[in-house]
Amino acid sequence: RPPRSTLFPYTTLFRSHAVCSSDLAQCALPIYSGVLFRLWRMNKRGHFFVFEGIDGSGKTTQIHLLQKRIEQQGVRCMETKEPTDGPIGSLLRQCLTGRMNIDEYSISAMFAADRLDHLQNETDGLCHKIEEGISVISDRYVFSNYAYQSVSVPLEWLVQLNAQAAKLLRPDCHIFIDVDPTTAMERMAAGRFHTERYETSDRLTKVRDRYLSLFEQFQDTERILIVDGNRPVDTIANDIWTQVSALYS
Ligand code: ADP
Repeated sequence: RPPRSTLFPYTTLFRSHAVCSSDLAQCALPIYSGVLFRLWRMNKRGHFFVFEGIDGSGKTTQIHLLQKRIEQQGVRCMETKEPTDGPIGSLLRQCLTGRMNIDEYSISAMFAADRLDHLQNETDGLCHKIEEGISVISDRYVFSNYAYQSVSVPLEWLVQLNAQAAKLLRPDCHIFIDVDPTTAMERMAAGRFHTERYETSDRLTKVRDRYLSLFEQFQDTERILIVDGNRPVDTIANDIWTQVSALYS
């Protein structure tokens, strides 16, 4: 259901036109249809979930499982990630793998630019997908930017940089998979051959601490679910589904 504050002015607008004169009533009919259409679209909007966590925490694994479960409810659901595969995201990946050496301020600005493009680009922008009723699960969003870059860049600056993205699309839930950094490193070593710019145990510990303090800071404005990621895959997936399924019942 749309929030009352949104519904109320539209209803008032239609009523006030309808009682004034028949001419105005005729004008009001298309307005009313437009309003109904907008309300209908709002009702069928997709949901937006974001997975956060240090590398190796199990985000990719859990995103696949959640995507399948949502689709089992008869709802279209797509996975995505940041940095994206778009032009800015590709450049950013070269910085993260060390092929390009760029300072943290510039990297933060690139993350923010990649995110805005992720949300708004005409080919597959997320805002449009959500409007169409498609649910979206993203591997990382603004909290990643805050947690990773605020080790070297002031948080206030990062929040300001991401203000437009936060306004355009706020997640229904940020799901943080909390895992011990040593376990994460072991999982990555077992599954991959290269490490990225931020994948050292010391750095992962700092980033995890940052995440936890950020969640305390933003707990009144964002919906955050912290899940113990040190457990078996299915146990974690069931925990997440218990929280998320209410949105699809
Ligand atoms: P991320 O996307 O956060 O980097 P992945 O989902 O790719 O993490 O998981 C990293 C590795 O750990 C993969 O090899 C995956 O199979 C394994 N893994 C994921 N979740 C668990 C878990 N709960 N227990 C043990 N291994 C896991």
